[in-house]
Amino acid sequence: MNQREFLNQTMKGTPVSSGIAIGKVYLLEQGKIHVSKRSVREENVEKEVAKFKSATKRATEELNRVKESIADDEIRKHAFIIDAHLLILQDRYFYDDIIDTIRKQRINAEWALDRVVSKFLSSFEKMEDLYLRERAQDLNHIYQRLLQIMVKGKASGVVDTTGLRGKAIIVSHDLSPADTIQLDLNKVSGFITDVGGRTSHTSIVARALEIPAVVGLGSITGSVKNNDTIIIDGDEGIVIINPDAEMRKEYVARQLRLSVQRKEFLRIARLKSETKDGFRIRVGANIELLAEMDIVERYGAEGIGLYRTEYIYLSRKVLPTEMDHYHIYRKLAENKAIKYTTIRTLDLGGDKFASKIEVPKEINPAMGLRAIRLCLKEVDLFKAQLRGVLRASAYGPLRILFPMVSGLEEVRKAKALLRECMEELASAHVPFNEEIKIGIMIEVPSTTIITDLLAREVDFFSIGTNDLIQYSLAIDRINEYVSYLYEPLHPAVLRMIKKTVDDAHAAKIEVSICGEMAGEPLYVPILLGLGLDELSMNAYIIPKVKKITRGLGHGYCRELAKEILSKDSARESEYFLKREMANMFPEDFGKSLHTT
Ligand code: PEP
Ligand code: MG
Repeated sequence: MNQREFLNQTMKGTPVSSGIAIGKVYLLEQGKIHVSKRSVREENVEKEVAKFKSATKRATEELNRVKESIADDEIRKHAFIIDAHLLILQDRYFYDDIIDTIRKQRINAEWALDRVVSKFLSSFEKMEDLYLRERAQDLNHIYQRLLQIMVKGKASGVVDTTGLRGKAIIVSHDLSPADTIQLDLNKVSGFITDVGGRTSHTSIVARALEIPAVVGLGSITGSVKNNDTIIIDGDEGIVIINPDAEMRKEYVARQLRLSVQRKEFLRIARLKSETKDGFRIRVGANIELLAEMDIVERYGAEGIGLYRTEYIYLSRKVLPTEMDHYHIYRKLAENKAIKYTTIRTLDLGGDKFASKIEVPKEINPAMGLRAIRLCLKEVDLFKAQLRGVLRASAYGPLRILFPMVSGLEEVRKAKALLRECMEELASAHVPFNEEIKIGIMIEVPSTTIITDLLAREVDFFSIGTNDLIQYSLAIDRINEYVSYLYEPLHPAVLRMIKKTVDDAHAAKIEVSICGEMAGEPLYVPILLGLGLDELSMNAYIIPKVKKITRGLGHGYCRELAKEILSKDSARESEYFLKREMANMFPEDFGKSLHTT
């Protein structure tokens, strides 16, 4: 076979952290360790138990050492992810289960560990929720670490880049967050793995550190060898092994364009979000983790328009307490770089809670006992979060947002519980902000019909277009077969947004959009024209939205909104919008005209 046939071999994975990296492969050998499976004699059982206990102790020490050895302040902020791994090691149920298995089945410690972990992993696999399924990765990292200690006496997963000359791209079957955190960024320009998904901890760390990364490539470790040249595209999820000169040139040029664009974005991030004629619109960020705050600051968010608090519940073995909530929210309240933080109360339910809260199995969880409905039923769970927010509100500008409201009664009940929490804290002399702003998500279609009534009850609305579109157009937002019907410019959706804004403003309250629609640059003129007060989005997109906003006139946007509202189909509106935008921003929308 000729040499050229080996060039440009391309693989597609899941893009998890943006950017392009080009470099030499540094293959991290973390091949599977063979688990020897032995029955042990009665008199040797306790030796196996001791082996497992000492491995757990050692793994805990190693992880603590990793945490302590992080010299870089920026990186240390993400070390909390290692805590999630320490939590697994400290889990009594997990620990006792392995010891019981050794004793009852009289098998060696490695085999017992393997059995217990396999049992846990198979129940993770059955979970419908992608986020929870990916938590299996964390358990797998701990499994590998314990196994390595028991078999080899130490865990070898730590990435040793001391021998590397120049920057390399780490290729590994998997990369634990502990490994990722320890990467010497002067030596590593990106990483790619066989397994993993977008919400795995490793991916979260990669995004926070802004290292390009692609995961879930299947068998990349079997397809490359050390010193192969490789290109990774963290936006498209593409990996090119041994690119030819032409391909390399193309990606070097793209890399250069991206780096110029990034510099330009970081400059725009610092500018005001206002139209050419001085109309201000607040641009907020949506976050799930405190670790994202660096990006939020860098990319120029004024505040947090949506803090999805679900992760606080999912990252713990036990339910978070009032004080757990308080400590997290206080950090946000005290952050001087942002002007406000909107804390959305728990938006979970159905199958996602199976292990911690007893909820009936539901046929249709999207319409089941979730979000505010669950919170009004599980009052203690709800009050712990509300009290946590209130306590933290004494330290800075926090706002509360209730999700999935369908009618007035729910808002009144939620507010009554909030008042109850305020009275309890007041009688315990705990300070809090009595004037804390209360908002609701407008995402169940019924609420858009009664926005005039709801506006009397709250201080602000936040339109959740992801769910609003799902429920009003009756299309599952993650079902690929009906995704063609997911139309933000559907006349019904636009009319619902318009009515919500008009009713909010008539009642002198603010209205924001925190669904994905707010972060789509194409929709900026229409959202400006409809009069939204805030757009909240993934932080990376903020500079682009600011750039578009700054290039538009508000008068023009209002006219454009009128024109689009008069159209009778999403398709027609989209074509019109793309044509207008291509004229005004040819470099951003020039190509999009051909995709309608
Ligand atoms: C929405 O529904 O638009 C929203 C912002 O909430 P989530 O995506 O968390 O349901
Ligand atoms: Mg929603």
